Amino acid sequence: MALVNEHFLKLPNNYLFADIAKKVNAFKVTHPKADVISLGIGDVTQPLCPAVIEAMHKAVDEMGTAEGFRGYGPELGYEFLREAILKNDFLPRGIHLDIDEIFINDGAKSDTGNIQELIRWDNSIGVTDPIYPVYIDSNVMIGRAGVLNDGRWSNVIYMPCTAENGFIPSIPEDCHVDVIYLCYPNNPTGTVISKQELRRWVNYALKNDTLIFYDAAYQAYITDPDIPRSIYEIRGARKCAIEFHSYSKTAGFTGVRCGYTIVPKDLTAATLDGKRIPLNPLWNRRQSTKFNGTNYISQRAAEAIYTPDGRQQVQQTIDYYMQNAHQMLDTLRRLGYECYGGENAPYIWMRTPDTSSSWQFFEQLLYGANVVCTPGVGFGPSGEGYVRFTAFGSHEHTEEALDRIEKWSK
Ligand SMILES: *Cc1c(COP(=O)(O)O)cnc(C)c1O
Repeated sequence: MALVNEHFLKLPNNYLFADIAKKVNAFKVTHPKADVISLGIGDVTQPLCPAVIEAMHKAVDEMGTAEGFRGYGPELGYEFLREAILKNDFLPRGIHLDIDEIFINDGAKSDTGNIQELIRWDNSIGVTDPIYPVYIDSNVMIGRAGVLNDGRWSNVIYMPCTAENGFIPSIPEDCHVDVIYLCYPNNPTGTVISKQELRRWVNYALKNDTLIFYDAAYQAYITDPDIPRSIYEIRGARKCAIEFHSYSKTAGFTGVRCGYTIVPKDLTAATLDGKRIPLNPLWNRRQSTKFNGTNYISQRAAEAIYTPDGRQQVQQTIDYYMQNAHQMLDTLRRLGYECYGGENAPYIWMRTPDTSSSWQFFEQLLYGANVVCTPGVGFGPSGEGYVRFTAFGSHEHTEEALDRIEKWSK
Protein backbone atom coordinates (compact mmCIF):
# COMPACT_ATOMS: atom_id res chain seq x y z
CA MET A 1 0.00 0.00 0.00
CA ALA A 2 1.37 3.37 -0.97
CA LEU A 3 0.85 5.77 1.91
CA VAL A 4 0.43 9.40 1.11
CA ASN A 5 2.49 12.18 2.69
CA GLU A 6 -0.27 13.38 4.97
CA HIS A 7 1.44 16.67 5.69
CA PHE A 8 0.05 17.81 2.33
CA LEU A 9 -3.45 17.32 3.72
CA LYS A 10 -2.81 19.95 6.37
CA LEU A 11 -2.50 22.68 3.75
CA PRO A 12 -5.70 24.65 3.26
CA ASN A 13 -7.16 23.68 -0.14
CA ASN A 14 -7.74 27.14 -1.29
CA TYR A 15 -4.79 28.96 -2.61
CA LEU A 16 -5.11 32.73 -2.18
CA PHE A 17 -5.13 33.62 -5.87
CA ALA A 18 -7.58 30.82 -6.69
CA ASP A 19 -9.93 32.25 -4.06
CA ILE A 20 -9.59 35.70 -5.55
CA ALA A 21 -10.24 34.37 -9.06
CA LYS A 22 -13.36 32.60 -7.82
CA LYS A 23 -14.74 35.80 -6.29
CA VAL A 24 -13.86 37.84 -9.38
CA ASN A 25 -15.57 35.27 -11.61
CA ALA A 26 -18.69 35.31 -9.46
CA PHE A 27 -18.77 39.09 -9.87
CA LYS A 28 -18.30 38.85 -13.64
CA VAL A 29 -21.17 36.37 -13.98
CA THR A 30 -23.57 38.77 -12.28
CA HIS A 31 -22.05 41.86 -13.95
CA PRO A 32 -21.22 40.72 -17.48
CA LYS A 33 -20.67 44.27 -18.76
CA ALA A 34 -18.25 45.36 -16.04
CA ASP A 35 -14.63 45.72 -17.07
CA VAL A 36 -12.53 44.59 -14.14
CA ILE A 37 -8.97 45.89 -13.65
CA SER A 38 -6.62 43.80 -11.56
CA LEU A 39 -4.01 45.38 -9.32
CA GLY A 40 -3.87 42.07 -7.55
CA ILE A 41 -1.59 39.33 -8.82
CA GLY A 42 2.15 39.96 -8.60
CA ASP A 43 2.99 39.22 -12.22
CA VAL A 44 4.67 41.71 -14.51
CA THR A 45 3.00 42.99 -17.68
CA GLN A 46 5.66 44.73 -19.77
CA PRO A 47 7.47 42.76 -22.51
CA LEU A 48 11.06 41.54 -22.33
CA CYS A 49 13.56 44.20 -23.36
CA PRO A 50 15.22 44.14 -26.82
CA ALA A 51 18.68 43.14 -25.50
CA VAL A 52 17.17 40.04 -23.90
CA ILE A 53 15.15 39.13 -26.98
CA GLU A 54 18.23 39.47 -29.17
CA ALA A 55 20.26 37.21 -26.87
CA MET A 56 17.49 34.62 -26.83
CA HIS A 57 17.23 34.59 -30.62
CA LYS A 58 20.96 34.15 -30.89
CA ALA A 59 20.93 31.30 -28.37
CA VAL A 60 18.12 29.56 -30.24
CA ASP A 61 20.08 29.78 -33.49
CA GLU A 62 23.16 28.32 -31.79
CA MET A 63 21.10 25.40 -30.58
CA GLY A 64 20.25 24.62 -34.20
CA THR A 65 23.87 24.11 -35.24
CA ALA A 66 26.13 21.14 -34.55
CA GLU A 67 28.82 23.36 -32.96
CA GLY A 68 26.45 25.52 -30.95
CA PHE A 69 24.13 22.84 -29.65
CA ARG A 70 24.04 22.47 -25.85
CA GLY A 71 22.61 19.52 -24.03
CA TYR A 72 22.72 19.14 -20.28
CA GLY A 73 24.55 22.14 -18.91
CA PRO A 74 26.45 22.42 -15.65
CA GLU A 75 23.96 21.93 -12.77
CA LEU A 76 25.26 25.09 -11.08
CA GLY A 77 24.80 27.16 -14.23
CA TYR A 78 27.06 28.37 -17.02
CA GLU A 79 30.18 30.26 -16.03
CA PHE A 80 29.40 33.14 -18.38
CA LEU A 81 26.36 34.01 -16.29
CA ARG A 82 27.94 33.35 -12.92
CA GLU A 83 30.88 35.60 -13.90
CA ALA A 84 28.50 38.35 -14.99
CA ILE A 85 26.68 38.11 -11.64
CA LEU A 86 29.93 38.37 -9.65
CA LYS A 87 31.14 41.33 -11.65
CA ASN A 88 27.89 43.26 -11.77
CA ASP A 89 25.76 42.42 -8.76
CA PHE A 90 28.44 42.00 -6.09
CA LEU A 91 31.91 43.40 -6.85
CA PRO A 92 30.70 47.00 -7.25
CA ARG A 93 29.27 46.75 -3.71
CA GLY A 94 32.52 45.44 -2.30
CA ILE A 95 31.25 41.87 -1.96
CA HIS A 96 33.73 39.19 -3.01
CA LEU A 97 32.14 35.88 -3.83
CA ASP A 98 33.65 32.76 -5.29
CA ILE A 99 32.04 31.57 -8.50
CA ASP A 100 31.18 28.25 -6.80
CA GLU A 101 29.06 30.10 -4.28
CA ILE A 102 26.59 31.03 -7.05
CA PHE A 103 23.95 28.52 -8.13
CA ILE A 104 21.83 29.48 -11.14
CA ASN A 105 18.20 28.54 -10.53
CA ASP A 106 15.02 28.41 -12.58
CA GLY A 107 13.49 31.19 -10.52
CA ALA A 108 13.67 31.92 -6.82
CA LYS A 109 10.43 30.14 -5.96
CA SER A 110 11.94 26.69 -6.47
CA ASP A 111 14.98 27.41 -4.36
CA THR A 112 13.19 29.26 -1.55
CA GLY A 113 10.89 26.23 -1.40
CA ASN A 114 13.63 23.60 -1.71
CA ILE A 115 16.29 25.08 0.54
CA GLN A 116 14.65 23.68 3.68
CA GLU A 117 15.79 20.20 2.58
CA LEU A 118 19.21 21.15 3.97
CA ILE A 119 18.00 21.35 7.56
CA ARG A 120 16.65 18.74 9.94
CA TRP A 121 12.89 18.29 10.25
CA ASP A 122 12.83 19.54 13.83
CA ASN A 123 14.45 22.96 13.38
CA SER A 124 12.28 25.84 14.54
CA ILE A 125 11.46 28.36 11.85
CA GLY A 126 10.61 32.01 12.15
CA VAL A 127 8.95 34.17 9.54
CA THR A 128 8.05 37.80 9.25
CA ASP A 129 4.28 38.08 9.08
CA PRO A 130 2.71 38.78 6.55
CA ILE A 131 4.89 36.76 4.23
CA TYR A 132 5.34 35.17 0.77
CA PRO A 133 3.44 31.88 1.30
CA VAL A 134 6.09 29.59 -0.24
CA TYR A 135 8.35 29.72 2.83
CA ILE A 136 5.79 28.29 5.22
CA ASP A 137 4.00 25.96 2.81
CA SER A 138 7.23 24.24 1.80
CA ASN A 139 7.89 23.54 5.49
CA VAL A 140 4.33 22.31 5.97
CA MET A 141 4.81 19.72 3.23
CA ILE A 142 7.55 17.95 5.11
CA GLY A 143 5.92 18.29 8.51
CA ARG A 144 8.09 21.00 10.03
CA ALA A 145 5.34 23.61 10.46
CA GLY A 146 3.04 21.58 12.72
CA VAL A 147 -0.71 22.04 12.46
CA LEU A 148 -2.87 24.98 11.45
CA ASN A 149 -4.97 26.66 14.15
CA ASP A 150 -6.80 29.90 13.41
CA GLY A 151 -4.54 30.76 10.49
CA ARG A 152 -1.33 30.04 12.44
CA TRP A 153 0.98 27.03 12.18
CA SER A 154 1.80 25.61 15.58
CA ASN A 155 5.57 25.25 14.99
CA VAL A 156 6.13 28.53 13.17
CA ILE A 157 7.31 31.60 15.06
CA TYR A 158 5.52 34.62 13.60
CA MET A 159 7.22 38.00 13.79
CA PRO A 160 4.48 40.56 13.15
CA CYS A 161 5.19 43.44 10.76
CA THR A 162 2.54 46.10 11.07
CA ALA A 163 2.26 49.87 10.90
CA GLU A 164 2.65 49.89 14.70
CA ASN A 165 6.24 48.61 14.54
CA GLY A 166 7.08 50.35 11.27
CA PHE A 167 7.09 46.94 9.52
CA ILE A 168 10.39 46.06 11.18
CA PRO A 169 9.94 42.79 13.04
CA SER A 170 11.33 42.56 16.52
CA ILE A 171 13.92 39.93 17.19
CA PRO A 172 12.39 36.99 19.07
CA GLU A 173 13.40 37.32 22.72
CA ASP A 174 11.51 34.56 24.45
CA CYS A 175 12.33 31.61 22.21
CA HIS A 176 15.17 30.27 20.12
CA VAL A 177 14.76 30.31 16.35
CA ASP A 178 16.98 28.03 14.27
CA VAL A 179 16.04 29.37 10.85
CA ILE A 180 14.61 32.75 9.88
CA TYR A 181 13.14 33.78 6.54
CA LEU A 182 13.53 37.45 5.63
CA CYS A 183 12.39 39.11 2.41
CA TYR A 184 13.43 42.69 1.62
CA PRO A 185 12.18 44.70 -0.19
CA ASN A 186 9.17 42.86 1.14
CA ASN A 187 6.39 41.10 -0.66
CA PRO A 188 3.60 41.82 0.26
CA THR A 189 4.19 45.02 2.28
CA GLY A 190 6.59 46.80 -0.10
CA THR A 191 8.63 47.93 2.91
CA VAL A 192 12.43 47.80 3.18
CA ILE A 193 15.07 47.25 5.83
CA SER A 194 17.97 49.65 6.51
CA LYS A 195 21.58 48.49 6.81
CA GLN A 196 21.47 49.24 10.48
CA GLU A 197 18.38 47.09 11.06
CA LEU A 198 19.68 44.25 8.92
CA ARG A 199 22.95 44.36 10.89
CA ARG A 200 20.94 43.66 14.06
CA TRP A 201 19.54 40.53 12.42
CA VAL A 202 22.90 39.32 11.21
CA ASN A 203 24.40 39.88 14.66
CA TYR A 204 21.50 38.01 16.24
CA ALA A 205 22.03 35.12 13.82
CA LEU A 206 25.76 34.95 14.48
CA LYS A 207 25.26 35.05 18.23
CA ASN A 208 22.46 32.46 18.32
CA ASP A 209 23.65 30.16 15.55
CA THR A 210 20.56 30.97 13.48
CA LEU A 211 20.44 30.47 9.74
CA ILE A 212 18.90 33.29 7.65
CA PHE A 213 17.21 32.62 4.32
CA TYR A 214 17.21 36.04 2.67
CA ASP A 215 14.95 36.63 -0.32
CA ALA A 216 16.22 39.56 -2.40
CA ALA A 217 13.84 39.07 -5.34
CA TYR A 218 12.98 42.79 -5.38
CA GLN A 219 16.45 44.28 -4.86
CA ALA A 220 16.40 45.94 -8.31
CA TYR A 221 13.66 48.28 -7.09
CA ILE A 222 15.85 49.86 -4.41
CA THR A 223 16.95 53.42 -5.11
CA ASP A 224 17.86 54.61 -1.61
CA PRO A 225 21.63 54.06 -1.08
CA ASP A 226 21.20 53.24 2.61
CA ILE A 227 19.01 50.24 1.82
CA PRO A 228 21.08 47.06 1.33
CA ARG A 229 20.57 45.20 -1.93
CA SER A 230 22.22 42.10 -0.58
CA ILE A 231 22.58 40.76 2.94
CA TYR A 232 26.28 40.25 2.20
CA GLU A 233 26.71 44.02 2.45
CA ILE A 234 26.57 43.29 6.18
CA ARG A 235 29.77 41.99 7.73
CA GLY A 236 29.46 38.42 8.97
CA ALA A 237 26.48 37.53 6.75
CA ARG A 238 28.62 35.03 4.82
CA LYS A 239 28.63 32.92 7.97
CA CYS A 240 24.87 32.89 8.54
CA ALA A 241 22.89 33.61 5.37
CA ILE A 242 21.76 32.10 2.09
CA GLU A 243 20.43 34.64 -0.42
CA PHE A 244 17.95 34.23 -3.28
CA HIS A 245 17.79 36.37 -6.40
CA SER A 246 15.40 36.28 -9.31
CA TYR A 247 15.24 37.93 -12.72
CA SER A 248 11.44 37.67 -12.63
CA LYS A 249 10.73 41.09 -11.18
CA THR A 250 14.09 42.56 -12.24
CA ALA A 251 13.67 41.92 -15.95
CA GLY A 252 10.25 40.41 -16.57
CA PHE A 253 11.46 36.79 -16.46
CA THR A 254 8.33 35.38 -14.79
CA GLY A 255 7.77 33.27 -17.92
CA VAL A 256 11.43 32.83 -18.91
CA ARG A 257 12.54 31.38 -15.54
CA CYS A 258 15.99 32.25 -14.25
CA GLY A 259 17.58 33.53 -11.06
CA TYR A 260 20.34 32.53 -8.67
CA THR A 261 21.04 31.47 -5.13
CA ILE A 262 24.14 32.27 -3.07
CA VAL A 263 25.37 29.65 -0.63
CA PRO A 264 28.64 30.99 0.86
CA LYS A 265 31.42 28.54 1.60
CA ASP A 266 31.80 29.91 5.14
CA LEU A 267 28.26 28.93 6.01
CA THR A 268 27.85 25.89 8.24
CA ALA A 269 25.18 24.14 10.28
CA ALA A 270 25.63 21.73 13.16
CA THR A 271 25.16 17.98 13.50
CA LEU A 272 23.57 16.70 16.70
CA ASP A 273 27.01 15.81 18.05
CA GLY A 274 28.24 19.33 17.42
CA LYS A 275 30.25 18.98 14.22
CA ARG A 276 30.00 21.89 11.76
CA ILE A 277 28.97 20.97 8.22
CA PRO A 278 29.41 23.43 5.34
CA LEU A 279 26.14 23.89 3.45
CA ASN A 280 27.65 24.83 0.08
CA PRO A 281 28.68 21.25 -0.83
CA LEU A 282 25.34 19.96 0.46
CA TRP A 283 23.38 22.30 -1.79
CA ASN A 284 25.68 21.41 -4.67
CA ARG A 285 24.96 17.72 -4.04
CA ARG A 286 21.23 18.39 -3.78
CA GLN A 287 21.14 20.34 -7.03
CA SER A 288 23.26 17.80 -8.90
CA THR A 289 20.81 15.08 -7.87
CA LYS A 290 17.48 16.82 -8.31
CA PHE A 291 18.07 19.62 -10.81
CA ASN A 292 19.55 19.44 -14.28
CA GLY A 293 20.19 23.12 -14.73
CA THR A 294 18.35 26.14 -16.07
CA ASN A 295 18.03 26.11 -19.82
CA TYR A 296 20.80 27.65 -21.89
CA ILE A 297 18.53 30.12 -23.65
CA SER A 298 17.28 31.60 -20.36
CA GLN A 299 20.83 31.90 -19.05
CA ARG A 300 21.94 33.77 -22.20
CA ALA A 301 18.87 35.96 -21.75
CA ALA A 302 19.91 36.72 -18.16
CA GLU A 303 23.48 37.46 -19.21
CA ALA A 304 22.15 40.12 -21.62
CA ILE A 305 20.69 42.07 -18.70
CA TYR A 306 24.24 42.96 -17.67
CA THR A 307 25.26 44.49 -21.01
CA PRO A 308 25.13 48.31 -21.25
CA ASP A 309 21.98 48.18 -23.43
CA GLY A 310 20.39 45.53 -21.27
CA ARG A 311 21.00 47.47 -18.08
CA GLN A 312 19.53 50.61 -19.45
CA GLN A 313 16.48 48.86 -20.92
CA VAL A 314 15.77 46.88 -17.76
CA GLN A 315 16.04 50.05 -15.70
CA GLN A 316 13.51 51.71 -18.00
CA THR A 317 10.93 49.06 -17.23
CA ILE A 318 11.62 49.25 -13.50
CA ASP A 319 11.16 53.03 -13.70
CA TYR A 320 7.91 52.46 -15.58
CA TYR A 321 6.53 50.31 -12.74
CA MET A 322 7.84 52.67 -10.09
CA GLN A 323 6.05 55.54 -11.79
CA ASN A 324 2.85 53.54 -11.24
CA ALA A 325 3.80 52.98 -7.61
CA HIS A 326 4.37 56.68 -7.00
CA GLN A 327 1.14 57.63 -8.68
CA MET A 328 -0.76 55.07 -6.64
CA LEU A 329 0.79 56.35 -3.42
CA ASP A 330 -0.04 59.96 -4.31
CA THR A 331 -3.64 59.28 -5.21
CA LEU A 332 -4.44 56.86 -2.40
CA ARG A 333 -2.88 59.15 0.21
CA ARG A 334 -4.72 62.15 -1.18
CA LEU A 335 -7.93 60.19 -0.76
CA GLY A 336 -7.04 59.69 2.88
CA TYR A 337 -5.92 56.06 2.79
CA GLU A 338 -3.04 54.95 4.98
CA CYS A 339 -0.40 53.48 2.65
CA TYR A 340 3.02 51.91 3.09
CA GLY A 341 5.74 50.60 0.75
CA GLY A 342 5.85 51.74 -2.86
CA GLU A 343 9.12 53.69 -2.46
CA ASN A 344 11.77 51.03 -3.05
CA ALA A 345 9.38 48.26 -4.03
CA PRO A 346 6.58 47.68 -6.55
CA TYR A 347 3.93 46.98 -3.88
CA ILE A 348 1.65 49.25 -1.90
CA TRP A 349 0.29 48.00 1.38
CA MET A 350 -2.82 49.83 2.40
CA ARG A 351 -4.71 49.76 5.66
CA THR A 352 -8.40 49.10 5.03
CA PRO A 353 -10.60 52.00 6.12
CA ASP A 354 -13.31 51.81 8.82
CA THR A 355 -11.89 48.63 10.34
CA SER A 356 -13.10 46.57 7.38
CA SER A 357 -11.45 43.17 7.16
CA SER A 358 -9.15 42.47 4.22
CA TRP A 359 -11.79 40.38 2.44
CA GLN A 360 -14.59 42.89 3.15
CA PHE A 361 -12.59 45.69 1.58
CA PHE A 362 -11.60 43.42 -1.31
CA GLU A 363 -15.31 42.86 -2.10
CA GLN A 364 -16.26 46.50 -1.61
CA LEU A 365 -13.56 47.59 -4.03
CA LEU A 366 -14.49 44.90 -6.54
CA TYR A 367 -18.20 45.72 -6.49
CA GLY A 368 -17.81 49.48 -6.05
CA ALA A 369 -14.88 50.28 -8.36
CA ASN A 370 -14.41 47.03 -10.32
CA VAL A 371 -10.79 46.95 -9.18
CA VAL A 372 -9.08 43.85 -7.78
CA CYS A 373 -6.59 44.05 -4.91
CA THR A 374 -5.09 41.25 -2.82
CA PRO A 375 -6.47 40.74 0.71
CA GLY A 376 -3.58 41.12 3.14
CA VAL A 377 -4.75 38.33 5.41
CA GLY A 378 -3.95 35.90 2.60
CA PHE A 379 -0.26 36.50 3.43
CA GLY A 380 -0.57 35.73 7.14
CA PRO A 381 -2.46 36.72 10.28
CA SER A 382 -0.77 40.13 10.63
CA GLY A 383 -1.96 41.00 7.12
CA GLU A 384 -5.55 41.25 8.37
CA GLY A 385 -6.87 44.77 7.94
CA TYR A 386 -4.61 45.48 4.95
CA VAL A 387 -4.72 44.96 1.19
CA ARG A 388 -1.91 44.87 -1.36
CA PHE A 389 -1.84 46.75 -4.66
CA THR A 390 0.81 45.96 -7.27
CA ALA A 391 2.52 48.48 -9.51
CA PHE A 392 3.02 45.88 -12.25
CA GLY A 393 0.07 47.02 -14.38
CA SER A 394 0.26 49.20 -17.48
CA HIS A 395 0.11 52.98 -16.96
CA GLU A 396 -3.32 53.03 -18.63
CA HIS A 397 -4.81 50.38 -16.36
CA THR A 398 -3.24 51.85 -13.26
CA GLU A 399 -4.56 55.34 -14.04
CA GLU A 400 -8.01 54.04 -14.87
CA ALA A 401 -8.10 51.99 -11.66
CA LEU A 402 -7.08 55.02 -9.60
CA ASP A 403 -9.74 57.17 -11.27
CA ARG A 404 -12.35 54.60 -10.39
CA ILE A 405 -11.15 54.31 -6.80
CA GLU A 406 -11.29 58.09 -6.53
CA LYS A 407 -14.88 58.30 -7.82
CA TRP A 408 -15.95 55.40 -5.65
CA SER A 409 -14.30 56.77 -2.51
CA LYS A 410 -16.18 60.04 -2.87
C1 LIG B 1 8.09 36.84 -7.27
C2 LIG B 1 8.83 36.41 -6.07
C3 LIG B 1 9.90 35.52 -6.16
C4 LIG B 1 10.43 35.05 -7.46
O1 LIG B 1 9.76 34.06 -8.05
P1 LIG B 1 10.38 33.38 -9.34
O2 LIG B 1 10.25 31.92 -9.07
O3 LIG B 1 11.81 33.79 -9.45
O4 LIG B 1 9.57 33.84 -10.48
C5 LIG B 1 10.58 35.18 -5.01
N1 LIG B 1 10.23 35.69 -3.83
C6 LIG B 1 9.23 36.56 -3.71
C7 LIG B 1 8.94 37.11 -2.38
C8 LIG B 1 8.49 36.93 -4.82
O5 LIG B 1 7.47 37.77 -4.67
